[in-house]
Amino acid sequence: MADERKWDIEVIDDLFDDRDSALIKRTPLSIHVNIDSWYWLLDGKGDFTVRSCYRRLQGECSDDHSKLWKKIWAMKLPSKVTHLVWRLCKGCLPTNAALVMKHVNIEAGCPWCHREAETSVHVMFLCDFAKTVWLTAGMAHLVNCFSYETPSAVLQKVFEQGTKDQCVEIAMLCWSIWNRRNRWVWDHVNGSVFGVKNIATHLLREWTEAQIKEESRKIRGEVGDRVWSPPPTGWLKINIDAAVFLDGTIGVGAVIRDDRGCFIGA
Ligand SMILES: [Zn+2]
Repeated sequence: MADERKWDIEVIDDLFDDRDSALIKRTPLSIHVNIDSWYWLLDGKGDFTVRSCYRRLQGECSDDHSKLWKKIWAMKLPSKVTHLVWRLCKGCLPTNAALVMKHVNIEAGCPWCHREAETSVHVMFLCDFAKTVWLTAGMAHLVNCFSYETPSAVLQKVFEQGTKDQCVEIAMLCWSIWNRRNRWVWDHVNGSVFGVKNIATHLLREWTEAQIKEESRKIRGEVGDRVWSPPPTGWLKINIDAAVFLDGTIGVGAVIRDDRGCFIGA
């Protein structure tokens, strides 16, 4: 019952089995009194249009997504940040709301503000803490969104409107907000808004400097005559080395890099 901000227990008990009924009743309600309305997901304003329907049937909407993936993978970012943004867009982040959908017996609410269900969009853009981060970074106007939007729709809009530098900063801040959320949930460490921004800035600077050093080493030929070449797009390359020491022990090492030369693991 939207006008009273409470569940219609009688209807829920009547329509759903005990397990689903209990899960629905545990879902936090919006703090706003909104009247339910229809929303067409394929249109930015939520209005049904024949054009959007036709585009979906023609498969154009999936093409839009492939453009988003290309944009994400082409951004110059640390690989863990690229991976986080990709997981965010795919709806793979283990937020409380996502875990409840997978039948994990926990509360779906946001552990920080306790006002809304903890969805990816809430954590990244709508929670009070996240909003302050975006305001402080001067990018609140770019990430302005609604709780019914999917993370991929929000980021698609953001990456189209933002400059190259803004897109990189937004990706870095998403990673830092998620990082800070996990430290709060799992270690009870309360990171500040400025801490979130500083960690993002620091990581990006370190990574960029490392990339520049690597490039200049390659140009100076310090890696020898043999220059590492990247694998084909979408592939990973493993380089291994081994040594036998005088005491008879053997050492083996391996490093995995992607097609852009970014470090994946060792
Ligand atoms: Zn929240």
